[in-house]
Amino acid sequence: MIKLFSDTKIAELLGLLNASKKIAIVTHVNPDGDAIGSVIGWSNFLRTIGFHSVIIVPNHFPDFLKWINGTENIYVGFNQKDTCARLLREADLLFCLDFNKLSRLDAMGEYIMTLDIKKVLIDHHIGVEEKDFNLTFSKTPISSTCEIVYRIIWQITKKKHVSPQIAEALYAGIMTDTGAFTHSCSSELFRIVADLMECGIDREKIHSAVYNSFSVNRMRLMGYCITKMEVLPEYHTAYIMLTKEELERFEFEPGDTEGFVNIPLSINGIILSVLFTESKEGYIKLSLRSVGDFSVDEMARKYFNGGGHRNASGGKSFVSLNETVMFFKKILGELKIGSEIS
Ligand code: 5GP
Ligand code: MN
Repeated sequence: MIKLFSDTKIAELLGLLNASKKIAIVTHVNPDGDAIGSVIGWSNFLRTIGFHSVIIVPNHFPDFLKWINGTENIYVGFNQKDTCARLLREADLLFCLDFNKLSRLDAMGEYIMTLDIKKVLIDHHIGVEEKDFNLTFSKTPISSTCEIVYRIIWQITKKKHVSPQIAEALYAGIMTDTGAFTHSCSSELFRIVADLMECGIDREKIHSAVYNSFSVNRMRLMGYCITKMEVLPEYHTAYIMLTKEELERFEFEPGDTEGFVNIPLSINGIILSVLFTESKEGYIKLSLRSVGDFSVDEMARKYFNGGGHRNASGGKSFVSLNETVMFFKKILGELKIGSEIS
């Protein structure tokens, strides 16, 4: 396997670990499969080399990730604000996984900025905010943070094998961030998957736990989204809007809309899909997906306070749902998206 990071960087990481007394691991708001898989995998790995750590996430993560061994010990800032603040204050080394700037942790990120704590980033998103971290392990072409974690473990231990628990968590993150191995997959990634299989994971079980665990409400919400979807053929674009009331009607749980934004991309000719969701916090959450060269990262960064990857990004809008969609349509007109293929 090709080394992703220099030996000097790995030595720096080990130096920070050896100098640390208390370690915490955090990931982004609305944690997804890669976020949860990577924090669990990394925390378990640290334990195998003698370092105890606590995992803290800003808010709830989806039920379809709760089968992952170790998720029961995750602290959720939304529920346990004081405990999480104390754990962060007590830590002297913080691992930041699957996000590129502290603002991706909302209020928790602001709190972390006030602390005197060494911060190590492990991530694969475009546009790292270098000033937020002391040491960064970031590679944007890599499929997932879980893949990066596996490759760091391999560089540290010089071994291909990890425990079945670590393998299972990392596989779950790789699987979800690649859309079940449809994008961002290098030949190297499949070699890693082969290694993980040899560590004793049950691929069918993991796939089923993540993808075949819909509640009836979630399935009906998916059908509703497809019916409600608006298509703008002239812009090769489709979008779905969900209000707070609609989410309540389907008894929305965190993660229920995961993957829905990809559905319109199955329509012939659609190269941009956006899901607009009214969040409990009062802003509009955007999920953006594209096919080919059109960069939703650029779109999210320029217009929607967000970013991510070229073909999968997220963002926020602080005006109403209708105003957000109107603004979005105006941008489409200006960008002339898809004009080169029409
Ligand atoms: P999703 O649409 O599934 O929420 O996110 C797609 C990708 O964009 C993920 O890699 C996620 O980490 C990133 N992302 C989601 N929301 C935001 C955001 O508000 N800001 C930034 N910078 N990235 C985001
Ligand atoms: Mn990721």
